[in-house]
Amino acid sequence: MPTTETNEHKALREAVSALGKRHGRTYDREQLWSEAAKLGYLGVNIPEEYGGGGGGISELSIVLEELGAAGCPLLMMVVSPAICGTVIARFGTEDQKQTWLPALADGTRTMAFGITEPDAGSNSHRITTTARKDGTDWLLTGRKVFISGVDLADATLIVGRTEDSRTGRLKPCLFIVPRDAPGFTRRQIDMELTAAEKQFELTLDDVRLPADALVGDEDAGLLQLFAGLNPERIMTAAFAIGMGRYALARAIEYARDRTVWDAPIGAHQAIAHPLAQAHIDLELARLMMQKAAYLYDAGDDVGAGEAANMAKYAAGEACVRAVDQSVHTLGGNGLTREFGLASLITAARVARIAPVSREMILNYVSHQTLGLPKSY
Ligand SMILES: Cc1cc2nc3c(=O)[nH]c(=O)nc-3n(C[C@H](O)[C@H](O)[C@H](O)COP(=O)(O)OP(=O)(O)OC[C@H]3O[C@@H](n4cnc5c(N)ncnc54)[C@H](O)[C@@H]3O)c2cc1C
Repeated sequence: MPTTETNEHKALREAVSALGKRHGRTYDREQLWSEAAKLGYLGVNIPEEYGGGGGGISELSIVLEELGAAGCPLLMMVVSPAICGTVIARFGTEDQKQTWLPALADGTRTMAFGITEPDAGSNSHRITTTARKDGTDWLLTGRKVFISGVDLADATLIVGRTEDSRTGRLKPCLFIVPRDAPGFTRRQIDMELTAAEKQFELTLDDVRLPADALVGDEDAGLLQLFAGLNPERIMTAAFAIGMGRYALARAIEYARDRTVWDAPIGAHQAIAHPLAQAHIDLELARLMMQKAAYLYDAGDDVGAGEAANMAKYAAGEACVRAVDQSVHTLGGNGLTREFGLASLITAARVARIAPVSREMILNYVSHQTLGLPKSY
């Protein structure tokens, strides 16, 4: 793995940063989405033959991190090009690739992703959304919660299960469900989040889907799912690092100027050191994110799995701490709307919970990396 960024990556970072700064914190999500798409940034990871940039998650994570650092993160990048684009590019039929990949790359179509269920939560082995065969069609029934951007998306990639005809056991499978499919309804969840993307509870009531709604092999199960979940974790790390950098930059500006005794508050080590620590934590998290992206793009799914979990953990924690310290640095102004940092306190917590919580990553590392026994 290269220890410094390539010139191409540096150039991409600078160009996206310039785009982000033009839009800034008061960005219009739709405008930024279509501009980023036109410039080729949303599809950097999509294969060139399907209209993308032919890069990987390394490039896509740079795009999301830099937009976040400019105060205008595009949450749907975590799902549409990263999870859905990856899964379709790796496991979709030629028809699915032709239908979706060029449109995901040029931003004309968006796809949401739904795995979380009310009665399964972190334990995705327990999901019960079930697909039954009806002739050549599928009938999909179940419930999902906290699914982001379903209203913006043309379709949602739903993780369901089909019954194994030999064993009767349920196997995970992925289905493309169009937004307006009969029987597919959504209710917006009232979140305490200031964000352009909303979360939804979904009900699937015998949603009839054609045979070609199934993505990939019915029997490949978890392998296909993890092809999408590792990019999701890496992209959530990028989201968190971007947000942490944005908050920290506001705090540093403020600490340089704000003077209540003789020197600016940034001269006090009680203010300066925690900001320096936050910077170090964000940089370290970025290194792990780059490692995870590098391994993923090199085709090492197993190595990428461990690194993606660690990167998501490190970035989520670094983001929460950076935002907390930044708000504190601004004193009372940290809680005003004018300075715009207080809403990040809630937003930063998302990176600690989703798509896999801090505790579940610690469980993973305890069992998979350290070989400790499982408690649950
Ligand atoms: C803003 C936002 C956007 C989201 N977008 C999407 C989306 O687009 N698509 C999607 O599918 N999902 C989405 N999610 C859902 C998210 O992935 C889940 O919230 C997350 O996986 C945790 O599940 P849960 O909320 O059911 O928590 P639970 O599983 O109920 O966990 C609650 C708490 O218990 C802890 N816990 C659970 N089990 C254990 C254990 N064995 N050991 C130790 N601690 C444990 C957890 O760490 C957590 O702190 C989103 C969530 C949020 C907040």
